Amino acid sequence: MSAIVFYNTRTRTKQDFAPLQPGRVGIYTCGPTVYGPQHIGNLRSQLFADLLKRFLLSEGFAVEHVINITDVGHLVSDADEGEDKMELAAKRAGQSAAEIADKYTQMWREDRARVNCLEPERNPRASEHIAEQIALGRVLEEKGYLYRIDDGLYFDVSKFDHYSELARLDLEGQRDVQRIDAVEGKRHPADFAIWKFAAPEVRRLQEWDSPWGRGFPGWHLECSAMSSRYLGERFDIHTGGIDLASVHHTNEVAQSECAYDVRPWVSFWMHNEFLDFGGEKMSKSKGNVTALSDLVEQGRDPLAFRYFFLQAHYRQQQTFNPEAMEAASRGYRRLVALVAELRAVPDSADRDAQAPHRERFRAALADDLNAPKAMAVVWDVARSDSLSPADRRDLLLAFDEVLGLDLAHAVPAEEISESDPRIDAMLAERQAARERKDFAGADRIRDELAAEGISIIDTPEGPRWSRE
Ligand SMILES: [Zn+2]
Repeated sequence: MSAIVFYNTRTRTKQDFAPLQPGRVGIYTCGPTVYGPQHIGNLRSQLFADLLKRFLLSEGFAVEHVINITDVGHLVSDADEGEDKMELAAKRAGQSAAEIADKYTQMWREDRARVNCLEPERNPRASEHIAEQIALGRVLEEKGYLYRIDDGLYFDVSKFDHYSELARLDLEGQRDVQRIDAVEGKRHPADFAIWKFAAPEVRRLQEWDSPWGRGFPGWHLECSAMSSRYLGERFDIHTGGIDLASVHHTNEVAQSECAYDVRPWVSFWMHNEFLDFGGEKMSKSKGNVTALSDLVEQGRDPLAFRYFFLQAHYRQQQTFNPEAMEAASRGYRRLVALVAELRAVPDSADRDAQAPHRERFRAALADDLNAPKAMAVVWDVARSDSLSPADRRDLLLAFDEVLGLDLAHAVPAEEISESDPRIDAMLAERQAARERKDFAGADRIRDELAAEGISIIDTPEGPRWSRE
C-alpha cells in the first residue's frame, strides 16, 4: 500500500504522514466564533477536517479530534483591533454573551450534524479555559517574550526567530505599512495581544481577573492553550481555513514553540482554501445563500452540500453558485437512488473483484485527500458493468464510511425513470452485449450515452436511465 501523503503548509511540500505515537493521531481544528450563524465557507473547513478524520479512521488510526468554540476575545479584526465580536453581537441582541454563545454553538453543532460530520472527541470553549490561558501567558512572560502597554500584554515577535516561517511573512514590509487603527505602543505591527485590559470606561460582559489586571485573553492564546491541554505539548495535525495561516496560526506557533520549547509544535499544518462565490457578494438581503439553513430553506438536502464539497480538492478554491449546487444535488440524488436499488441485492461478495477498486479509492485519498479523484472511483464503480450488483453495493457503502454521504440510509428523493425510444433501444443493445459477455461493446454504448449526459442505473428489474 502506498504511504499516506499530506501537504504541509509549514514545509510547503507533500510529506509522508506518520503520527508522533504509532496508531494514534491528534487533530486540532479551529472552530467557530459563536457570535452569529456560520457561513457555508466556514463549513467547508469543518467538512475538510471531517474528511481527514474519517480517512485516518479508515486507515485504522485512533483519532482524537479537538475543535474549539471561540466565545471570547475574537475582535472584529483578527489582529486584535476593533470591538469584540461576541460583545458586539450580545449588545445588539440585548442578550448576555453566554446566551449568544449558547445559541450559535447549538446552531453550529446542528449544521455539522446535518452534513454528517463526526462528533469531535472534545469541543472546549475558550471561556471555560481562562486559567489555562493565563498559565500559558505567565510562562511566556517569565521567559521574556512579552511587554506591557496601556492596552494589554503583547507578544514581541522579534524575540521568536521563526515567526515568519509558517506563512512566509515579510515582517520588514509590514513595518512600512502605517495603519491608522493600530494599537498605540506596539513595537511591531505583528506583535499580538496575550491579554487585553478591560478599559475602565467600557462595561464588558466578559472579563476576568489575571496577574496583570482585569481583562480578557487575546484570541490566539486559546488555541495554543486548549490544543496542548488535550493533545499534548506536541501533536500531529492542525487544520483550519487558509485565511487563518498568516495571523492566527502564526501566533499560535509563536506562543506554543516559545512556551513549551518544542519545534515543530505541530507536525502537519493543513489548510483548506476558500469557498468563492464567483465574484458575487453573498448576503441575505440579496437572497443569496450564506448559511446552511438558507440551503435547507431552498429545499436542498444538506448532504448534497457535502457532495458538492467532495467535488473539489480541499486546497483548491471552489466556486459556489446556484448552478454548481444544482449539479451537486442531481449527482447526489442519482447516487442515492442507485445505492437504494442495490441495498436489497443478496450478498455475494467477491473480494478479488473488489480489491482493485478499494485500492484506487484509498490511493486517491492517501494522496493528500484527493476527494474528486475518489469520487471518480465512486462513479466508476457505480456504473461498472463488470462488477456484480452485490460488489458494487459493498464497495459504495465501504467508500461512504469515508465520504460521509449517508448512502446506507438516504432515501431517494424521487424515482428516476425516463423513456425515449432511441435511448431505450441503445439500452437493449447494451443488455444484449452484456449477455454475450461483450463488455467492451457494453461499455462503448454506456460511454456514448454518458457523452450525451445520460447515466444508466442497473436495477434488479433491469437498467434505467436518467439525464444529468
Ligand atoms: Zn484557532
